[in-house]
Amino acid sequence: MHRFLEHLKLHHVPLQEVIIQTGHGSEFDGGASRRQDRGFIPTIEEVCKATHRQLKRSTPKSAIPASQQSLVDNGCLCCLDSRVRMMSMQTKRRKTRTVHIGSVRVGGGAPVSVQSMTKTDTANVSETIRQVKELEALGCEIIRMAVPNLAAARVLGKIKSQIDIPLVADIHYRAKLALEALEQGVDALRINPGNITRADELERIGRAAASQGVPVRVGLNSGSVRGRVDADAPSDTPVEVLMVERALQSAQLLEAAGLSQIIISLKASDVPATLRAYREIASCSDYPLHLGVTATGLGESSVVKSVLGIGTLLAEGIGDTLRVSLTAPPQREVELAYEILASLGLRSRRTPEIISCPTCGRCQGDLMKIASEVSAKLPAQAKQLRIAIMGCEVNGPGEAQEADVGIALGKRGGVLFSKGKKLRQVPSKQLVPELLKEINSLLR
Ligand code: SF4
Repeated sequence: MHRFLEHLKLHHVPLQEVIIQTGHGSEFDGGASRRQDRGFIPTIEEVCKATHRQLKRSTPKSAIPASQQSLVDNGCLCCLDSRVRMMSMQTKRRKTRTVHIGSVRVGGGAPVSVQSMTKTDTANVSETIRQVKELEALGCEIIRMAVPNLAAARVLGKIKSQIDIPLVADIHYRAKLALEALEQGVDALRINPGNITRADELERIGRAAASQGVPVRVGLNSGSVRGRVDADAPSDTPVEVLMVERALQSAQLLEAAGLSQIIISLKASDVPATLRAYREIASCSDYPLHLGVTATGLGESSVVKSVLGIGTLLAEGIGDTLRVSLTAPPQREVELAYEILASLGLRSRRTPEIISCPTCGRCQGDLMKIASEVSAKLPAQAKQLRIAIMGCEVNGPGEAQEADVGIALGKRGGVLFSKGKKLRQVPSKQLVPELLKEINSLLR
């Protein structure tokens, strides 16, 4: 409890903010926050008690490591590891039906899975397999590949036999390619009803997929929907409205053909349109949703759009699988997908988390150099660690104590922390080696 109070003070968290984050919908909402509406400011003890009740009720026992169980039994949840507290505050995920893409469960409460797409010529079997293996090593769980022609469709079986993650065939324009992909034994199809528009073709695909127990993703993109799916719609009809309508019509046709293993995606290149489309489909169906923002462009702008679009929906509990689309090597897509998921507490990290401050006039050393050096020298096994590298004593000791290991720079070098405890003062030149030594000792 007391560490939590210190944490609040160190981070200058306003009490009202704590109420918003912990109290709404809880008994605190009916207590102190109602009084706050009438002009009362709760005491920090009230906030802490309410936080404690809220955490105790919402933290699943299975999420609490054995070493910290006694804290729960003794009623001091505020002292729990911060990651456990984060887990306890996660947003409820939207309920969906469960779809199986090969061995990967999508929806129905399964972990949000990470997908990517090969960027090779699919007909070049060896290059495609090489890329799939690289992506798999980074954590890609489902791989999709373009099937632009029959030559590409006909090598899918060969590729599938040499990879270990489920393969999704990406089909546009021609139902025949979907049927050939099914013949080849793919684990799922992605079809685009923005360019496969005929009801009889969709029904044919639905029947063939259902008979083989293969799921279909109805994947609409903003670029392929306008003008193609509803010629009668007024030209100013928002693209998200067209996408949602078309997705539901197509899903209905597939269901009528006997297929219930359906996933939907509605990717626009515009973040607000993407959000509106997914929120709408989430509110009126139980299909698992594959998240993404399409054609995001290059560099930082593509990362910002992807993080905002995908992250916002995930934070609202929407989304069951995702692909980050970047004009970049596909490896970057997988890394960013995990960064989004881990930052929201939805999946474990695959890379260490470095918490470093932005620096300011108070910074007591070359923090950027120290952080880069540490990052470059981290051992591969450090992926689950949270490492704080902070520039001064304002937030430094607090963040360093919250992390697994950390340093806070000061006038005479810095202070080294591990697992919440201050270890020792370290001279400037020894900061990086000492921090790495402590990290290695934690990994032993
Ligand atoms: S921790 Fe210190 S140096 Fe870093 S941004 Fe905050 S005040 Fe500035």
